[in-house]
Amino acid sequence: MTSRPTTPLLVVLALSTVGCAPPAASPPWTLSPDSPVVVDDPVLLARMGRALDAAAEAGTDPVISGYHVRAATVVEHWGREVVAVGGNTEYGVPQAVHGEVSALNHATALVGPDVARREVKFMAFHSSSCAGDSRGCGDCRDYMRATTEYRSLLWVCGRATDRTIHVRRFSDGLLDEDDAPDVERAAIGLAADDLQRLVDAATEARRGGVALFTNPDRHTGASALSASGRVYRAAGADDAAFHYRFAVGGVLQQAATEGDYVIRAILVEGEPGSWPRVAYRERQYAFEYSSFGVSRGQPPTWLILSNGRGRFKGAPVETFLPKPFSVARFNPTAIEQFLSRQARQDQQQVQQAAATSQLR
Ligand SMILES: [Zn+2]
Repeated sequence: MTSRPTTPLLVVLALSTVGCAPPAASPPWTLSPDSPVVVDDPVLLARMGRALDAAAEAGTDPVISGYHVRAATVVEHWGREVVAVGGNTEYGVPQAVHGEVSALNHATALVGPDVARREVKFMAFHSSSCAGDSRGCGDCRDYMRATTEYRSLLWVCGRATDRTIHVRRFSDGLLDEDDAPDVERAAIGLAADDLQRLVDAATEARRGGVALFTNPDRHTGASALSASGRVYRAAGADDAAFHYRFAVGGVLQQAATEGDYVIRAILVEGEPGSWPRVAYRERQYAFEYSSFGVSRGQPPTWLILSNGRGRFKGAPVETFLPKPFSVARFNPTAIEQFLSRQARQDQQQVQQAAATSQLR
């Protein structure tokens, strides 16, 4: 039984999965000769195979996308192997618990956070093709970074059709803020006035927001400059349920509210004198939004980090989200259809206003 996506959406992961457990006589999983990372540890490879067989049977509930993501890992604990599986679930307006977060949370529940952090060496996905090269969405990257030794974490895909294992490095999907390219004002590609407007707006935004539980070094303000010349601003906001609303998400939601879908640059500022931390979830927002402009033939949105002291780091947003997961690559027609629908709506509004004006 092979599961196929029926309504590909943002929440869908790039690694497709299938849902049948292998029969008892299935051959063992073997490392693919095409695997980007060579694993020569037979114990680790055997654990990957065990995880893939367990993942094949993981329950999922993708009620929106119809796209099953089955993940698992195996950790050593008190001399025995512990298998933790996870499956994606979707609910409400498009929201989801993704498969890899589900599996890692399961591992934490089984062996505790310290053992999970030390012993989770890989996250494995049971797949029909292993064609995708994504390292998951931004939110999942944040979770992996927070709960594992992510610099050595392996991203494993098991192709069900030939039972081959394809191993990649999770860290290939990361770019630390300190490693982002330094950039001079003149190289950013914005008029000096526009750059200053962005800096002022982000600085002012950061004075607001909600930081009940957020450390000052994580509280940020963001601003965005649209192609129409408008500047938007927003600050981060937390709450007691820890459903953080990120500054970059907020500023882009404001632009979207005004129907402003082409953003030239987003600027983020944190504590004066420090480089702001930009969560991968925020980068995902920025990358997705940049796709709107790109689909209209515009350059990708720039993401700019400001230290509040006149220094900048910056690059097109995709530099900050290597190996992205995106609707732009998974289902580009969704963006085109959405923007066309918005344009028709705007046109109808103009026509109705003109008709109303003629009646007066
Ligand atoms: Zn995810």
